[in-house]
Amino acid sequence: MHRWEPYIPRSPRLRVRKTSCCCQYELCGEGGQYFVLRQTADGGYEETARGLYPHAEQVFAQLASQHWCTRQAS
Ligand SMILES: [Zn+2]
Repeated sequence: MHRWEPYIPRSPRLRVRKTSCCCQYELCGEGGQYFVLRQTADGGYEETARGLYPHAEQVFAQLASQHWCTRQAS
């Protein structure tokens, strides 16, 4: 699986490119690098898949597709 690490901002220009259902994951770009961001239970952020856009986007799509949505309960 993916290794999540504490998110440490490396650039003042964090840009969110995509947000998954329920805002569980965000695909972000920062200084030419892309990664997936998620919020932790204590209000912090963790990142994974840092690197080129296709890689981060692929991991983002995979994570988003595994999301079990509580809002879709009928
Ligand atoms: Zn959802």
